[in-house]
Amino acid sequence: MTTGTAPAGTNWAGNLTYRAVRLHRPGSVAEVQDLVARSERVKTLGSRHCFNDIADTPGSLLVLDGLGSDVEFDGDAGSDGTAWMPGGMRYSDLVRRLAERGAALHNMASLPHITVVGATATGTHGSGGRNGSLSTSVVGLDVIRSDGELVSLSPDDTDLAGCVVHLGALGVVTRIGLRIQPTFDVRNTVYLGMTWDRLLADLDAVAHAAYSVSVFTDWHEVTQVWVKSRTDGSDADPGDLFGVRAATEPTHMLPGVSVENLTEQLGVPGEWHERLPHFRSEFTPSRGDELQSEYFVPRRHGAAACESLRSLADRLAPLLQVSEIRTVAGDDLWLSPASDGDVVALHFTWQPDEAGVGAVLPDIEAALRPYGGRPHWGKLFTTGRDELAQLYPRMADFRALVRRFDPRGAFRNEFLDRTIAAFG
Ligand SMILES: Cc1cc2nc3c(=O)[nH]c(=O)nc-3n(C[C@H](O)[C@H](O)[C@H](O)COP(=O)(O)OP(=O)(O)OC[C@H]3O[C@@H](n4cnc5c(N)ncnc54)[C@H](O)[C@@H]3O)c2cc1C
Repeated sequence: MTTGTAPAGTNWAGNLTYRAVRLHRPGSVAEVQDLVARSERVKTLGSRHCFNDIADTPGSLLVLDGLGSDVEFDGDAGSDGTAWMPGGMRYSDLVRRLAERGAALHNMASLPHITVVGATATGTHGSGGRNGSLSTSVVGLDVIRSDGELVSLSPDDTDLAGCVVHLGALGVVTRIGLRIQPTFDVRNTVYLGMTWDRLLADLDAVAHAAYSVSVFTDWHEVTQVWVKSRTDGSDADPGDLFGVRAATEPTHMLPGVSVENLTEQLGVPGEWHERLPHFRSEFTPSRGDELQSEYFVPRRHGAAACESLRSLADRLAPLLQVSEIRTVAGDDLWLSPASDGDVVALHFTWQPDEAGVGAVLPDIEAALRPYGGRPHWGKLFTTGRDELAQLYPRMADFRALVRRFDPRGAFRNEFLDRTIAAFG
């Protein structure tokens, strides 16, 4: 085990310096159990891609890359099955192992750099009307509770639906199982020139035109529509996408950023893991110099929520780099932003102006309140615990789960006190 008393450093965006006084790199599950049991306050760090203090603690931070990156498979190669991996695994490493076996995940986020546990703990998602968030592929977890005991959760466990989107509140996940399927190919075609009228006349039709669709906007104009179709015949050819023209050269969603950090476009087929993420693992994703927020509204309110945000376009413009509109299929995970039904996800990549972003978030939240807007757990928001309790019908159950796994509050932090308030 490596233990450092050096500062724990910052998150990926650099807007947060972790307060943790110690950083540990345990080399075995037994070491994790020992560290947890004797730490007054402790949390686990994934790849640091959250924009808020969800992963922070005044005590010890654990980094789990010392648990290795071996992947074990249940099921035959080339058929549906499960992949089991250690708690510090990143998607960029996992997809290489899956590709060697001819296996696939159902979806990816915009970037592969993030850890599987860190992403699924916050309800991280890609796009697609029939694609659940990345959390929906979790079929099992090994969690070390605050007493140091390891609990294995399987699909038969009634607790699993409450434990998958756990916000780091329940314990340290040392092993995770994901549902996998045979590999498939995808092509990404970028369309330019969509109008708001055409989009909002039937948002569902555009969002469901292919396996995964992302709409980019500055809220004045719809700037691009990325249409990622499966090549195995399960997607109808989106053709000219309602008369809109396809781009003839690679196109970044952010003005002025080199396209070399993007996965391939122009309709060239490629494996699922080389097309579903927007950004390539070898490069900095997005711009790097940015903040992010995102809100989810029920699908039936998607067009009305977009209209509300359009009315804020002038207020958003000085702070915004780009917004992205995606869809996520509903699930039954207690704290998933898509629990209770399909959602439209409204994302904001901001300029790195913390004060300005902090000032505009309450306006966005007010605009989305009539539609039950839920914030992304890993991005910037100001929605408080009372409103979150209204937005999540299973919040009281989740609080009870937290107190059962962590009765002494070892995994508590300021983020959880502001949002979940399991300890009153
Ligand atoms: C450029 C960029 C693009 C993004 N694109 C998307 C996107 O397309 N879709 C989307 O939904 N989000 C997106 N995000 C947000 C990102 O996916 C989430 O913030 C995600 O949670 C980050 O994972 P991480 O591994 O960095 O976790 P961290 O930020 O390190 O941690 C997240 C939480 O997980 C907990 N945790 C991590 N590992 C463990 C463990 N082993 N056991 C217990 N708890 C653990 C931490 O304590 C913390 O509570 C993006 C972020 C960036 C920076």
